[in-house]
Amino acid sequence: MTCPFLNEAQVKYCQTSSVRKLIPIAAVGRAADKCSSADHLTCPVFRAHPVQGAEETAGDAATCGACPFLGESLMQYCAAAPVVKMVPYSESLLARCGSDRFRYCELYLSMAHPRIVAEEVDGIPVPEWLRYSTNHMWLDVGEDGYCHAGIDGFLSRALGRAERISYVWQQGQHRATAVVTVNGVDHELVFPNPFLMTSCNLYLRADPSRLTAEPYTSGWLFEGKPAPETSANLLQGAAARHWMEQEQRRINEFLQQQPGPNGPLAADGGLFAPGLAQYLDQEQMRAMFHTFFSPYADPNPAAQGANS
Ligand code: SF4
Repeated sequence: MTCPFLNEAQVKYCQTSSVRKLIPIAAVGRAADKCSSADHLTCPVFRAHPVQGAEETAGDAATCGACPFLGESLMQYCAAAPVVKMVPYSESLLARCGSDRFRYCELYLSMAHPRIVAEEVDGIPVPEWLRYSTNHMWLDVGEDGYCHAGIDGFLSRALGRAERISYVWQQGQHRATAVVTVNGVDHELVFPNPFLMTSCNLYLRADPSRLTAEPYTSGWLFEGKPAPETSANLLQGAAARHWMEQEQRRINEFLQQQPGPNGPLAADGGLFAPGLAQYLDQEQMRAMFHTFFSPYADPNPAAQGANS
């Protein structure tokens, strides 16, 4: 797939100029017409760069064509960018734009506002094209060999509003890990299987709220190149939906067991209250993270059954 904002343009430029000014052929005006016609013979820059045969053709302006210094090239550019920057086709700078990865581009997301139409399990969206780890992280492996990872709707609901995000590593072969601060307490978000990290979503450091407000789009956390083991033990499709049902039951039981006035948190067979960090004390939050969101979380029999 290619980003809908990726455009191409045939451009002209003067090869003698030290600063290459590109002129889209569709926008060529009078100044550029001069370069494409016999009028180039009057150009002081052309005259300052004598070329073989120019003297002969100078005497026959009617039959003379375009300036020999006039170059043409096919370029790409992002139509969503505030300043248009032309990039030759030969450069890989826009590789993200011509592949699946554009779906996680900040410019694309902010301009297109793509809507995720995902199946829900008791109010929690569970996009079917993603794979899920049992500590509530998702993985999206694209056809171009890159992957993205983030937190799922269940974890984002439990967290509520994120106050700060930092990354343990931004590149390299790791279990990708971020630290999110909620209600003044740090929690680790760890993708349980290693992959070669190529970048992180640094925009989240400026606006951490998107981690939980848009967990499947602009709230993504890590980008990288997956290995075969990166997808090990992940759930997808019917297995993921079944597991999510079990997780909702499990967290309601967990919340009902908590001491203190936590009654409203645990819906009776329904969806737990959003932003649990506001209601649980630090010890309870740590227990909840250990039970549901740590890569070393207690094994979930439902997920194990679905995997086997
Ligand atoms: S920079 Fe982003 S929005 Fe622009 S063409 Fe590339 S992927 Fe699309």
